[in-house]
Amino acid sequence: MKINIIGGGPAGMYFAILMKKADAAHEITIHERNGPDDTFGWGVVFSGKTLANLRSADGPSHTEITRNFEAWDNVDVVHRGEKISIHGNSFSGIARLRLLKILQQRCEELGVEIKFRDEVAEIESLKANCDLLVAADGVNSLVRQTFEDKFRPELSVRPNKYIWFGTSHLFHGLTLTFRETPAGVFAAHSYKFDQTTSTFIVECDPGTWNSAGFAEMSDEETRAYLAEVFAADLNGQPLLSNNSKWLNFLLVKNAHWSFGGEHDKLKFVGHVVLLGDALHTAHFSIGSGTKLAMEDAIALKECFDETSDVPAALQRFEEVRKPVIEEYQAAAYESMIWFEQARDYMHLAPVELAYVLMTRSGKVDRESLRKRDPAFVANYEAGSTDDADFTD
Ligand SMILES: Cc1cc2nc3c(=O)[nH]c(=O)nc-3n(C[C@H](O)[C@H](O)[C@H](O)COP(=O)(O)OP(=O)(O)OC[C@H]3O[C@@H](n4cnc5c(N)ncnc54)[C@H](O)[C@@H]3O)c2cc1C
Repeated sequence: MKINIIGGGPAGMYFAILMKKADAAHEITIHERNGPDDTFGWGVVFSGKTLANLRSADGPSHTEITRNFEAWDNVDVVHRGEKISIHGNSFSGIARLRLLKILQQRCEELGVEIKFRDEVAEIESLKANCDLLVAADGVNSLVRQTFEDKFRPELSVRPNKYIWFGTSHLFHGLTLTFRETPAGVFAAHSYKFDQTTSTFIVECDPGTWNSAGFAEMSDEETRAYLAEVFAADLNGQPLLSNNSKWLNFLLVKNAHWSFGGEHDKLKFVGHVVLLGDALHTAHFSIGSGTKLAMEDAIALKECFDETSDVPAALQRFEEVRKPVIEEYQAAAYESMIWFEQARDYMHLAPVELAYVLMTRSGKVDRESLRKRDPAFVANYEAGSTDDADFTD
């Protein structure tokens, strides 16, 4: 098969690796607009379950990824300066750039061609010249926009603002910190991803953003302002920028995930499928964007294990993967809404806030939390004044 891939992020590279590993005769080319060392952001998180999936899909890259990991089992919630730890979770962090380098190297070993600094502006010729065009070109996918009549995307720009920094203060756990200020409530999502650096994402609602006056501030002033808001949490360390800008989260769904090609002599060519963030997004508060992108790649490759007929494999991909994605997006949606309404929860005591946060997506209930960390649930039950909450 001849496969063209637009986008050398986790989705595009991992799909290329798995397909080439399955059959070295596949001709696979990735077109990536960035250079091999460019990246956005800082670290990404994987759960223990995702790691098991990556291990069975490709041992060598799994070994390299886990060698570069920072692992932890606690979620820490900081509210009114008090830290509540919830143990029994399994997460690991890795620098996004490190992950990309591991996948690049694996592509090279297997003979996948990556064309760096190759921004695709015209899709037709790439599409016509292959059996399958994979659009792994991220959240603002050009392919999705170009063929919106085929994919019928549903896009929602969310009201909250967020900005993605790094810091050399190490957060030993997935840490959710809330700070109430005269401008409003700021939430920080942070975790270490190597031995010297943590990701530090700040999120606030539009009212807080406007009251703080960020529209008038330079990047430097924004960073200084937020370092001041979280000074106690950062232990006086500055926030590090990587061209960090305020963004609004874009929620992406697509009614159709692929469309079929044109007849060229004896076969159909030019099938197009979306993968990763181009296909769907899930709010970063459940930390699953990279996981979903890589598991999409696994799922699509498994459909090609079942059949080499491209339309049949693409149809199967949508059948098996869509329910999984819909379930994730539903949980991520609840979590996103929670953070959009965070100011309504600030009256809660720290342990109550921690409990509400841990159960916000609907995927974790009290009994599963009790199994993870009985002491935390006992602490919550002893301290909670909300009788109604004890009836579930
Ligand atoms: C604030 C924030 C925090 C996050 N935290 C986490 C986290 O903790 N854990 C986690 O798992 N995920 C996290 N994510 C999500 C994660 O970054 C993405 O979901 C993941 O990278 C998706 O992979 P992808 O390959 O689909 O897309 P991307 O990683 O976006 O890759 C797309 C690639 O396509 C390239 N490209 C785009 N257009 C073109 C073109 N026209 N021509 C050539 N190349 C092109 C881009 O340069 C890019 O390299 C976070 C996201 C945000 C915004």
